[in-house]
Amino acid sequence: MDKKLLGIDLGGTTAKFAILTSEGEIQQKWSIDTNILDDGKHIVPDIIESINHHLKLYEMKPEQFIGIGMGTPGSVDIERGTVIGAYNLNWTTLQPVKDQIERGTGIAFALDNDANVAALGERWKGAGENDPDVIFMTLGTGVGGGIVMNSQLLHGVAGCAGEIGHVTVDPDGFECTCGKRGCLETVASATGVVRVARKLAEEYAGTSQLKASLDNGEDVSSKDVFELAEGNDDLALMVVDRVTYFLGLACGNLGNTLNPSAIIIGGGVSAAGEFLRGRVENYFREFTFPQVRNSTKVKLAELGNEAGVIGAASLALQFAK
Ligand SMILES: [Zn+2]
Repeated sequence: MDKKLLGIDLGGTTAKFAILTSEGEIQQKWSIDTNILDDGKHIVPDIIESINHHLKLYEMKPEQFIGIGMGTPGSVDIERGTVIGAYNLNWTTLQPVKDQIERGTGIAFALDNDANVAALGERWKGAGENDPDVIFMTLGTGVGGGIVMNSQLLHGVAGCAGEIGHVTVDPDGFECTCGKRGCLETVASATGVVRVARKLAEEYAGTSQLKASLDNGEDVSSKDVFELAEGNDDLALMVVDRVTYFLGLACGNLGNTLNPSAIIIGGGVSAAGEFLRGRVENYFREFTFPQVRNSTKVKLAELGNEAGVIGAASLALQFAK
């Protein structure tokens, strides 16, 4: 029988698990709540227990697995298999995740950060079409990213390669949680889109449902902004134009630097679909030189939230003999 992969996508509210074939087809999946109490000390034991429980349930043995791969928030040391600074898990001190999980399950284990594994997933089984050079960005609560070149994730000297959210797109722009100004994340995350809307609403004098909602103190989400824009709301269209300009600028410069076959946009904000992608592509074309413009494509992610478990599982392929 072919050996399997086990992928884990660890997040602040749930941990998703999947058993896959070595070709990346999901055969089983389940999830558990993430218990972040007591400095997150229950997280790894809960994961180990859940894996062992499900292997018993499916009558599988550790020897039937090539390995386990996991994506996690925080700063990851991929060599040692440790995590630190994952604040949504309450992991502030160094967590020896690899040692614990290998000891607890008897299966080889590899780790990387969540945006990087999502990039691997989209590259392998999603919009990346298994091409060797692919960039992935996820527009959610924040903006994350991962860069695959020559079929390898780029990590950089301090593990910061692919932090597309902190590419500067507006030097005089909003302050970012990282301490600098005008990061892509400040304008293209879900909260960033609303921030741009509030800023443009201050100067806007025309008729707009978005303007009225913001002025009335209603809860406005990035989804609302895109929906209003699709309904031709004047201010909402201006907001979408500004946001997609910043995204196109970042994508253009990534394209000019790395010339991947695709820059893939995923995450909650990308639910706006072609309405978003087409506008980003227009600006991307404006900011790229001809050879890049004609060879690098701007695409929408295809895997949704399965990208994480699939990409995580692919980390374990390094253990295949
Ligand atoms: Zn930043």
